[in-house]
Amino acid sequence: MKILMYAVLEPEKKYIQEWSAKTGVEVKCVAERLDANTVEWAKGFDGIDFQQTQPLEPVVYQKLHEYGIKQLTARMVGYDMIDFDLAKKYDLTVTNVPAYSPRAIAEMGLTQALRLVRKLGYYDQRMDKLDFRWAGLESTEIYNLTVGIIGAGHIGGATAQLYSALGAKVIAVDPIHRVELNPYLEYTDLDTLLQMADIVTIHTPLNESTANLFNSATFKKMKKTAYLINMARGGIVNAADLIAALQNQEIAGAALDTLADEGQFFEKQATPEEIPEDYKTLRAMPNVLISPHSAFYTDTAMKNMVAMGLDDVVAIVNGKRPQFEVYK
Ligand code: NAD
Repeated sequence: MKILMYAVLEPEKKYIQEWSAKTGVEVKCVAERLDANTVEWAKGFDGIDFQQTQPLEPVVYQKLHEYGIKQLTARMVGYDMIDFDLAKKYDLTVTNVPAYSPRAIAEMGLTQALRLVRKLGYYDQRMDKLDFRWAGLESTEIYNLTVGIIGAGHIGGATAQLYSALGAKVIAVDPIHRVELNPYLEYTDLDTLLQMADIVTIHTPLNESTANLFNSATFKKMKKTAYLINMARGGIVNAADLIAALQNQEIAGAALDTLADEGQFFEKQATPEEIPEDYKTLRAMPNVLISPHSAFYTDTAMKNMVAMGLDDVVAIVNGKRPQFEVYK
């Protein structure tokens, strides 16, 4: 069996080689994404696997069908780039990788929250000036705090378990109430969460109900001592309003793993000219932590992301039921 993997990033290669050696399935990797120009490369392969946000052109579905390929496997959570009517028309089963390691993102969110709570950015600033004093930087301990989770799904649920294990009180807002999370959190409404939480941690998708959810009105409802953690998508937080809220001391700090306009420098060496002004302003604040959409980037997550996608390609090629079929 031969599989062609599109849009392969350098950090994935090690895990692809490991999977290939373990399964005996030949995998060819290309850096280019799957589109009208590159679909022809799939001729002669049994299956394909890709990751991208750009929509697939209609000709891609048609050509894959002509080449005898039976699936569209996105090794990522999102599948908005796929037209399900065309996939059905050309007999292509769609699969994704819904949760490669929720713990990876949950642990990163917790790490950043602890750094903020312990005011490490301010200490770093003082240490740079050989200032060894601690006055003004008294911190607290995590079990004294209330953590508010916005979106308690895979990642939010894992986050609730981590904070709960540390003794914090955990509250959450989510239209879906999951009984399995009852030992770790209490559901509430958004306004109550904003008023009560010392740490507000976002784990929802970006959709109509969450776009710009954190804006100047939202920040005004939060505690002045609260920290905002966004491990989800940049578009959920209004960056200009966040800067104003931090400058006006309406909240105490923030950790952002994603930025609304990060697409142009995602996993790239950027130049100063490419970086938006609001990003530079936030980056310069001692109470703001920014990471490059790297919360997912652990060995476990990478291994799972590669293996869960490829295992499903093999299942479909062998006429078996894949584990992560997406229906729409
Ligand atoms: P999930 O689908 O398991 O959970 C999302 C939860 O959000 C669901 O329970 C849903 O009901 C809830 N939700 C939707 N709209 C809401 C709203 N308006 N208010 C409150 N809750 C709402 O998804 P997941 O696997 O936990 O991932 C969550 C998000 O994390 C993803 O959509 C993605 O944006 C982000 N993510 C980030 C990284 C990273 O590296 N930073 C990696 C993977 C995923």
